[in-house]
Amino acid sequence: MDRGRGALYVFAEMSALQVTRPVVRSFKWPFFDEAVSWVWRGGHAVVWLSARKARLVFAHPREADEFDLGWWSALDIGQSEFAVAKRGTFAGLAYVRVPHDCYRIVRERVVRDSVHPEPTRAIELDCLACGACCKDNRVVLEKVDIERFERAGRADLAAPPYARREDGAVVLVLRRDKRCKHLEDDNRCAVYAIRPDACSSFPPGSECCLSSREEEMGLVDGARA
Ligand code: SF4
Ligand code: SF4
Repeated sequence: MDRGRGALYVFAEMSALQVTRPVVRSFKWPFFDEAVSWVWRGGHAVVWLSARKARLVFAHPREADEFDLGWWSALDIGQSEFAVAKRGTFAGLAYVRVPHDCYRIVRERVVRDSVHPEPTRAIELDCLACGACCKDNRVVLEKVDIERFERAGRADLAAPPYARREDGAVVLVLRRDKRCKHLEDDNRCAVYAIRPDACSSFPPGSECCLSSREEEMGLVDGARA
């Protein structure tokens, strides 16, 4: 098992997915060696260089690993590009600047995870019947998605009433209640087998997943137990 990079996914039952996710800790000077050790053992570190200068540190994502939880953790605070430290204490680790308006978010992650003693945590997610990330979202259809629809004889999925043009992109239509038009009453996806890449590459257990579950289901730590 390669800890500290992508999530480890195991299907526990038909509908339950066991995910190993990083635990988030906060570190200040002089505890940077502890921060490095925490990250190499699979966790994420919020490193405070000063009271107004924070970095989110995580293991260097493998190239093209779209399930990497470090990368998604950065995305959740609006950072799509990361750097890798070339020298010094954090050499070899990836990091992003934490924007000032995201201090509250990273502090909440640290509080949430303060009950977990180890750098990683296993949780079970009812991913196939959850649908939290299928609400109030913006799914852009790429060329590969539209071609997939066509191959499946569902070219209609790339046009109204299922999709519409917005700012030069084709996006999935939401219902009035903000649910994706393909989300069924039991929270299953009606087009699961041919769903867009943006949906199939959304990693369960990521910070984006956990925040969706908190917003939509009131589950602070993502899991029910
Ligand atoms: S919010 Fe997470 S658990 Fe729920 S459907 Fe999306 S990825 Fe799966
Ligand atoms: S297409 Fe399916 S997986 Fe994607 S947002 Fe809609 S319901 Fe969710």
